[in-house]
Amino acid sequence: MQKNKKMIKKFKNPIYVSGPIFPDLNKYVDRLKEVWDSGFITNSGKQVEKLEKKLSKVLDVPEMSLSSSGTSALFNSIRYCKLSGEVITTPFTFASTIHSLTANGITPVFCDIDYETMNIDPERIIQLITPKTTGILGVHIFGVPCEVNRIKEIADKYGLKVVYDAAHAFGLKYDRIGIGNYGDASIFSFHATKLFHTAEGGGIVCKNKAMKKNVDIMRNFGIKANEKVVGPELNGKMSEIHAALGLEVLRYIEDEKRKRRKILNIYDRRLKNIKGIIFNTELKKYNLQYFVIKIDKKLFGKSRDEVNGLFKAYNVYTRKYFYPLCSNYPHYKNNISSERSKLAVANRVSKEVLALPFHGNLSEEDANSICDILISFSK
Ligand SMILES: *Cc1c(COP(=O)(O)O)cnc(C)c1O
Repeated sequence: MQKNKKMIKKFKNPIYVSGPIFPDLNKYVDRLKEVWDSGFITNSGKQVEKLEKKLSKVLDVPEMSLSSSGTSALFNSIRYCKLSGEVITTPFTFASTIHSLTANGITPVFCDIDYETMNIDPERIIQLITPKTTGILGVHIFGVPCEVNRIKEIADKYGLKVVYDAAHAFGLKYDRIGIGNYGDASIFSFHATKLFHTAEGGGIVCKNKAMKKNVDIMRNFGIKANEKVVGPELNGKMSEIHAALGLEVLRYIEDEKRKRRKILNIYDRRLKNIKGIIFNTELKKYNLQYFVIKIDKKLFGKSRDEVNGLFKAYNVYTRKYFYPLCSNYPHYKNNISSERSKLAVANRVSKEVLALPFHGNLSEEDANSICDILISFSK
């Protein structure tokens, strides 16, 4: 091990977990010329319309309503589904998921997760249902689909609505249809850290034209028509500048996926037999958003936190996705459902999980070096 360590070089430039696609600037400028010529820079112009049509195809969903962020899409899909009271959700997610409930005056009820998939555990959902429960907010974490069929069964039985945060699941199909078709509403995030991005942006999957009409009104202050405001809604529109960027980024997605698959195969091959490094086959099959491992301190010899710290010396910035657990944020830690003993799996996972650099700008050599570094930390 010592011998190995000497040979490992520090990266010259910092290596991050994600790296956005930067499309050809000239092509983007050409598209901006279209925007300039149109005279519309926002308020649902041609670029947004075009991107909505294209994404509906790519995501295999009926309609899309694009928005200024994934968070505004979540916020509005929760309102569209008229959720209130209590909503059962996962604590193992990004802040956005839970805050979108709170900002709508809803109490998030945290449900423990499955250790393998790190997704909400459907059988535990049932135990958390009260007369105040109106819905379930699931997250396809790291691009692994929730148990959508079982969740639908439970929701139907208890008369609950289901919303999915599909921020990590761009382009994913489940049972041969786009993942966005599941639930009463599904949202995507198009933030720069996501596989497909518009710098900032997001979208709600709409089941039909009527739903799109409603959701489009919600992203525009509740303005239905000239002099007709139908609800106290906020501004969540995507601009033409962002949509134009998205149309260019979209050209690179297949190539980006190919590159990520190569990196994934290297990580898989090099790390699968390392004691104390765990990643499940589901993740391997689906995940092109993040590459996430769990580190078992006893077997590996170092904790996730130690590994995360040690990587920095090599100019590699791994991320503790997701830590802290949402149920341990100061704002939520006193909720009844936040008790650590009730969320044992989620608390354990949030201490073990580490996202490794994973994007198309990484070379195969980079990926191999990252594996060398990680392996040199083992006992
Ligand atoms: C990125 C992300 C969002 C939304 O983020 P925005 O930055 O608002 O687009 C929501 N949920 C999860 C799980 C995410 O990773």
